[in-house]
Amino acid sequence: KLGRVIVIGAGYGGATAAKYLRMWGHGKIEVIVIEPNADFVSCPVSNLVLGGEKTLSDITLPYDLLKQNHGIKWIKDKVIAIDPDKSEIRLSKGKLSYDKLIVATGIDFMYDRLPALNNLAAQQKIPHAWKAGPQTQNLFDQLRAMPDGGVFALTIPAQPYRCPPGPYERACQVAFYLKNHKPKSKVLILDANPAITSKRPLFERVWADLYPGLIEYFPSSSLKEIDVSTRTVKTDFDTVKSDVLNVIPPQRASDLCVNTGLANVDKRWCEVDFRTYESKVFPNIHIIGDGVDSGLPKSAHIATSQAKVCANALAFMLSDEAPDPSPVFGNTCYSYADNKTAMHVTTVYRYDAAEKIMKAAPGGGTSAHPSAQEYTDAQYWALNIWADVLT
Ligand code: FAD
Repeated sequence: KLGRVIVIGAGYGGATAAKYLRMWGHGKIEVIVIEPNADFVSCPVSNLVLGGEKTLSDITLPYDLLKQNHGIKWIKDKVIAIDPDKSEIRLSKGKLSYDKLIVATGIDFMYDRLPALNNLAAQQKIPHAWKAGPQTQNLFDQLRAMPDGGVFALTIPAQPYRCPPGPYERACQVAFYLKNHKPKSKVLILDANPAITSKRPLFERVWADLYPGLIEYFPSSSLKEIDVSTRTVKTDFDTVKSDVLNVIPPQRASDLCVNTGLANVDKRWCEVDFRTYESKVFPNIHIIGDGVDSGLPKSAHIATSQAKVCANALAFMLSDEAPDPSPVFGNTCYSYADNKTAMHVTTVYRYDAAEKIMKAAPGGGTSAHPSAQEYTDAQYWALNIWADVLT
């Protein structure tokens, strides 16, 4: 045996890391996953639930094959605390010790910046739908119940947040639903950023060609106040009253990372060594996925790539060998424009030994225009990543 690795969280990053640790450790690494959810629910493709093209069950997938195929030990529970000095984690029931720990717990929301939403009732009335699951269904139900001629307001936090193109894709899918079912309605986007943060010319073209007059975009519109009872938001310039209000709150690494002291950058993101994903705060704790301070887009594609770099490094480290000194990976993000066309952006990232960061490198590119071919490609991207992560 080479040692015990505990993986906290079986989202895109954690599930991938667990699988590849078992494979690349040739079965000699004991891998224990701790995850509270019974099933995997995918954020990628979840905007199509709002468009009406997919259902929540289409994006809900079982963990069974992942567990069975790779001999992963699984505990359905939530980690309450990490004790880095004792190399121990605390669960709701009992404690466990580790040789190496992978923390893949994604993001949590900064409700301290939006006090009006800092309670469950408000979060039900004004859903984020930025973690796929019941919140996605809630937002779709509200959209379906909206009167024709109503206003769907979507607020976007300042960067960095999970999935840079995601909010603009959401606007497309909500507009697609409204165009078909409630054509007198409007989508208002209040973006805290000074401009569309990803695939800007493509989204502008889609909104003009497919949804003329349906989507209105307001840049540099930070949220100042929310009145939950009337679903009204205030920015520096405007007051917007809506029928459905979708606030995507500002985000940071998970509560667990913050409480453990792993989120050392602005008490928000976790600093790591990009060759191993080992925390710069505590040895033997590795962090992957959206909680990492990487400067790269926070995507499922990148979370799985970081998971593979980390699993590979741990397989070497547990065998007292040096990890790969110069990792490289790519990222592709598709966005669905409607129910027939999609577009993408791809970037290659290489480790830069001088600056010790992952840097954009030659390769990659962006669609010239949305196309039906890319709609098919996007669906295969999802099927492929689900197969990679979950089987
Ligand atoms: P997650 O996938 O969120 O997994 C975190 C896991 O940790 C969860 O299962 C959670 O239950 C668990 N957890 C949390 N706390 C604890 C604890 N204390 N104990 C135990 N377990 C815990 N990315 C793309 O690449 N392509 C796309 O097309 C795309 N579209 C998106 C669309 C939307 C609407 C959204 C919101 C996101 C999209 N993303 C996309 C981004 C992608 O979903 C995230 O980047 C990705 O999920 C990050 O993976 P992760 O492992 O860091 O976190």
